[in-house]
Amino acid sequence: MSHESVRVRFAPSPTGALHIGGVRTALYNYLFAKAHGGELLLRIEDTDSQRFVPGAEAYIIEALEWLGIRFDEGVSYGGDCGPYRQSERRDIYRKYVQQLLDAGKAYIAFDTPEELEKKRKTVANFQYDATTRTTMRNSLVLPREEVDALIAGGAQYVVRFLVAPNLEVEVDDMIRGRVSFNSSVLDDKVLYKSADDLPTYHLANIVDDHLMQISHVIRGEEWLPSAPLHVLLYEAFGWRDTMPRFAHLALLLKPEGNGKLSKRDGDRLGFPVFPLRWVDPKTSEVSSGYRESGYLPEAVVNFVALLGWNPGNEHEEVMSMEDLIKYFRIEKCSKAGAKFDYEKGKWFNHHYIQVSDDKRLAELLRPQLEAKGIAYDESYVAQAVALVKERAQTLVELEEQIEYFFTAPTSYEEKTVKKRWKEDSAAQLTELAALLSSQPEALPSEATEAVVKAWIEEKGYGLGAVMNCFRLALVGAAKGPHLFDITALLGRSETLRRLERAIAVLG
Ligand code: GLU
Repeated sequence: MSHESVRVRFAPSPTGALHIGGVRTALYNYLFAKAHGGELLLRIEDTDSQRFVPGAEAYIIEALEWLGIRFDEGVSYGGDCGPYRQSERRDIYRKYVQQLLDAGKAYIAFDTPEELEKKRKTVANFQYDATTRTTMRNSLVLPREEVDALIAGGAQYVVRFLVAPNLEVEVDDMIRGRVSFNSSVLDDKVLYKSADDLPTYHLANIVDDHLMQISHVIRGEEWLPSAPLHVLLYEAFGWRDTMPRFAHLALLLKPEGNGKLSKRDGDRLGFPVFPLRWVDPKTSEVSSGYRESGYLPEAVVNFVALLGWNPGNEHEEVMSMEDLIKYFRIEKCSKAGAKFDYEKGKWFNHHYIQVSDDKRLAELLRPQLEAKGIAYDESYVAQAVALVKERAQTLVELEEQIEYFFTAPTSYEEKTVKKRWKEDSAAQLTELAALLSSQPEALPSEATEAVVKAWIEEKGYGLGAVMNCFRLALVGAAKGPHLFDITALLGRSETLRRLERAIAVLG
């Protein structure tokens, strides 16, 4: 193997939103590159015009930026091996297709979709390969002049790879070890289509990995069956010596039961399978994203990193990107599929919210608060966040929990009113209001608590009775942090306003 340095790529096809499995593939490539002081490229594989979805490329770039997965080269990053969008590399692919044709390692085929369909119907388990290719309409069978005349006449054709039968093809996989395939299972794959003058995925992928000097290919398990074909293509081009090493990542599985994690599982169980919200441009269907559901990017990264890999017992599960880079080993990735444990994702998010700086959390909530017409005050929001964040698993929950710090309750939770608001409640709160109006505007938490408790004791009131009604007046419900932390943040004037209002409404 003569690659001196590590160069890996993430090579998504822009066919829709990036699935969380794709996020994991990008992340592992990133960790692998960083761990080895190597480079990571972003290549967009958009040769399948049928499946191209507008907006998907921009979505992928935005999602990975959000997660902190940065590229050294590629679409939107630039670099010396561009263009990095395959649809802009037609000239390059044409040349390499011709090279295989000239060497007799590929051939031209004219079979129409209808002809192929007919074959499939009449021949059981039909495969276009060594056993059938001589019965088809291609340049291996037709005289040279006829081939030339067909092309000159504008007939559509494809170029197929000539796969020799019965060869043992070995794929040396960094996760799975040596995997052996018999070439007879492969068909003569289409490498190029004249109809759109574009190569197929296989040809473009191999040519680009070679030209971009990719040292390792880390990708999903669904590509393992293509690996022997790719090995044969490297051989056909004479690039065997610089062929990248492969690592095929095991599938992400449903949280319960068997099978591949799908968007439907997410919808059914209530969790996103996409990093960002996605609106399908054709159907306008909206899919939720981790960002909009209130996840911190570092939580998603930590959670996703552990789906199919772990750092061993000697390390904590909570890992920053730096830790992940330090501990990540591709060989330690699991061969078996990884169950998608969504609760674990929430757990990580809760953890990262707790250790996050309150000012940062405030800033993240800012757009939503401003959209509600709240005048943003960083220090005030940060103090509110500090009081409630222990109870929040997501930023969405955090926003809900701080709501009453900005908006006085206009209604009072019915079941709490029934349980707590007694005949003498209004009178007690009126006395409390009088007491508080003699306190300083800042209402320092501990001092205010001492004053209020002394008054309750002196009067012989029930501590719980007064405090629960006080809370109801401030928050509108039986929830929230320590009551005197709330009053301290609201201040005396706002506290009194809320008391008066509750007295007026509840009587
Ligand atoms: N374009 C392929 C995909 O969308 C890339 C596969 C590979 O990494 O070789 O997954």
